[in-house]
Amino acid sequence: MSKRRILAGGIAQESHSFNPVLTNRVRFNIQSGLDAIASARGTNSLLGGILDAAGQADVEVLVPTLFRAQSGGPVEDAVFTEMRDIMCNAAKRGDFDAIVLPLHGGMLTPTLEDPEGELMASLRAIVGPDLPITVAFDLHAHVTCRILETCDLLVGYLTNPHGDQGNTGRRACQAAFDILDRRLRPVLSAVHVPMLTLGHDRTDEEPLMGLHARARAAVASGLAYDVSIFNAQQFLDVHGLGNWVLAYGNGKDAGRDSLALELAQSLWDQRCALIGTYPSLDECLDRAERGTERPLILGDQGDRVAGGGPGDSTYVLGALLARPGLPASVVPLTDPVSVAACHAAGKGAQVTLDVGGRFSTVAPPITVSGKVLGLGTEAHVTYDGPADAGYKSKIGAFAVLEIGKVHVLLTDQPYSYLDPDYFRAMGVNPAEMRVIITRSGYHFTLNFAAMGECITVDTPGMTSYRVDELPFTVARPFFPLDEPNFVPVLVDHPSRRD
Ligand SMILES: [Zn+2]
Repeated sequence: MSKRRILAGGIAQESHSFNPVLTNRVRFNIQSGLDAIASARGTNSLLGGILDAAGQADVEVLVPTLFRAQSGGPVEDAVFTEMRDIMCNAAKRGDFDAIVLPLHGGMLTPTLEDPEGELMASLRAIVGPDLPITVAFDLHAHVTCRILETCDLLVGYLTNPHGDQGNTGRRACQAAFDILDRRLRPVLSAVHVPMLTLGHDRTDEEPLMGLHARARAAVASGLAYDVSIFNAQQFLDVHGLGNWVLAYGNGKDAGRDSLALELAQSLWDQRCALIGTYPSLDECLDRAERGTERPLILGDQGDRVAGGGPGDSTYVLGALLARPGLPASVVPLTDPVSVAACHAAGKGAQVTLDVGGRFSTVAPPITVSGKVLGLGTEAHVTYDGPADAGYKSKIGAFAVLEIGKVHVLLTDQPYSYLDPDYFRAMGVNPAEMRVIITRSGYHFTLNFAAMGECITVDTPGMTSYRVDELPFTVARPFFPLDEPNFVPVLVDHPSRRD
């Protein structure tokens, strides 16, 4: 018997409907074949987990292509089409036994509300109804009925901040093997909950901790094969935005329906507790001025690239510059025009620039004068982890500007700074800084925990949780902008009609 093979690949990006800057091809890390496999093997990533599970089962993995980018505006249609064509051409060869897709979920293009569903439907049309397709998503994915209907099983991260990327890939891959070996006939109990979680939604704290514990217990007891609770990306103005509970069982066993309904009802009942509050920037900077035991690592909640923001809000930079008594600090800012100006001036030059504020809705450009401390056209990043440990990424053109004790990292593309190595890659040692700004809300807390005290700061902007300030139209009604009359209902699904 020839060795079993699976097809793995696709596209992973999280979009923000209201960010006007489309995510272009330059922002993607695109890998295929042995390159993709070599860089993912042993890493805590979805593909790393798929490779791990496949290796243990002596299964070969084919990676036609994998496009990965950080969050941002919708992805250019041409980028999605390029990826889909590569995946579909590979699927047409038919030299594999199952498809396992390591995606994010929650991506948009200017013309597609559900590109992941589009990719999956295209693949399903090629391989037919019987070949297993399993999918792994981020916990913040936007799930659609088309996605549920086109795949055999969908799993999501079980942790937020996310630390179980590899394990999620392993779950998706193992499910494909279990289907192939006829150990598993997935039947889905799925409930949509028309609400958003807004900040108080870590899975290691209540109320989500208890919900996930119930889900884990159900899997451990055999009541369900796999359970995922999706807390959707909050900035998607799409039909059916909301949270989902998915409970897959093996055949039509009793009890799983009521588990999904109960978890969905609990999620809804706790909706007010899932809205968080954060300290103000002034509070944090007052502390930094007085002196803190450990450096402060502050997440700029209002302009998180990790949440799809443009990363060019000057709100925090303005506050740092207004406090000459602050110790050494570093703040990143997306600004291709200023990067070019620094490159033209050269290393060591004194420059006066209008930086940032081109797309951010709350903070205008700021005129600054400083010294060009460093320049580069490409810098390589390897995540310290634990989240995505070992993952390799890169930064495009950048400049480091020194303004007194404030270091401004100017880049021509937005980055979320989830890992300390982003700073090192540009020549700034974060260990020498007392205030470090990241463009993340909570994911940075995992990889910066060893370096200092991590605090998400209540700053204004496109990715703040003040969703009433955003122009939602098609996604409504949802809590907290509306109070829909919610009764949990199982979503009709082909596996339920067997
Ligand atoms: Zn996420």
